[in-house]
Amino acid sequence: MDKGVVQQIRLAIDEQRLVDTAIKLIEIPSPTRSAGAVADRLAQILSEDGFVVERPIADWPDAPAVAVRFDTGSAGRVLQFDGHLDTVHLPFVPPRHENGCLYGSGSSDMKGGIAAFVEALRVLRDTETLRQGGILITAHDHHEGPWGDRRQLYALIGEGYVGDAVMLPEYLADCLPVAGRGMGIFEVRICRDGTQVHEVFRPEGTPDVLGTGAQLVVECQQLATRLAQITHPYAGSDSAFVGRIQSGEIYNQSPTECVVAGTRRWVTPGTIEEVETEFAGLLDRLAQRTGTLIEHDFEVQGDAFRIKLDDPLIGAFQSAYGGCTGAVLPLGSKPFVDDGNSFSRLAGISALTHGPAATGAHTLNEEVPVAELVRVAQVYALTAIGYCHHSAGTK
Ligand SMILES: [Zn+2]
Repeated sequence: MDKGVVQQIRLAIDEQRLVDTAIKLIEIPSPTRSAGAVADRLAQILSEDGFVVERPIADWPDAPAVAVRFDTGSAGRVLQFDGHLDTVHLPFVPPRHENGCLYGSGSSDMKGGIAAFVEALRVLRDTETLRQGGILITAHDHHEGPWGDRRQLYALIGEGYVGDAVMLPEYLADCLPVAGRGMGIFEVRICRDGTQVHEVFRPEGTPDVLGTGAQLVVECQQLATRLAQITHPYAGSDSAFVGRIQSGEIYNQSPTECVVAGTRRWVTPGTIEEVETEFAGLLDRLAQRTGTLIEHDFEVQGDAFRIKLDDPLIGAFQSAYGGCTGAVLPLGSKPFVDDGNSFSRLAGISALTHGPAATGAHTLNEEVPVAELVRVAQVYALTAIGYCHHSAGTK
């Protein structure tokens, strides 16, 4: 990476402006499905900065999304910066800036990251270092589950708010995630006909829903052992896990329902259907063997994803990261499912999650070092310069 450009970007980043932007976003509470006011605030900030802001409704009229297309006018790739403006449903913590850190709801997840990419956009424009291609910024609601169902992101992708690749500043900074597992949450309800009854008065042949639940737990363990053979060097392995089993009222009453809930994770992109079919088959056989009625939900949180190691986004990112920090970020996996998985599956573009080394996501103690936000702004700006400076045809 050209040292002069690195220096130019470093000098152009305005730490105070970045912090002010983050605080202006954090100070507006925005639990998932109620991010309208903070989206308005972000739109206002970007308009005041002189950018042309679009507000696509994208299937969520309560909080139209925010989008900016910054186009250099010369052919090249478009790099998208995407973030969610909603936060998990926890009591609101107002913003605080002390000890070189930002605190408050969404500071880690992920208003700090959004403020960093907004700063990157300003700097790219002001320094005129981005000479080809462009930047697409998108920010939206409906991310955090179980309150949101990601409908706004799906609609944005469907409406073409998609770059040639996307970066997402979630709180992941210790590796470059080139693969990640898909994940589905299952909830199985094992039922029988009839009512609850004292154990000694059970009609003969009454199905044992609790025992069937226990069998299901064992079958999931056996499944997990088989699945552990399906591996990927960075993503890890397939898995099945039971985290909850619920049944029974008192020790000598035969219950009518048992609920078993857990997760199924997979490393191979594009196998959602196979995974679901396999699980449904296991339940069908169990129901037949035990005489119970079994129904289930399988809620897919995201498909597995991979980025090719020779993807131009990886190269651009590593030279940007190296230019900023003098280090190479080791390749690794993404431990969680985020909107990058959706971009990868629905838009077919490379999605790179990289953000500040922030802590406390999904707790009341979110904390992000300001130096990390500055670093993320630098890395995003420099990655864009490396990535966009190629003709779109050569991607
Ligand atoms: Zn997040």
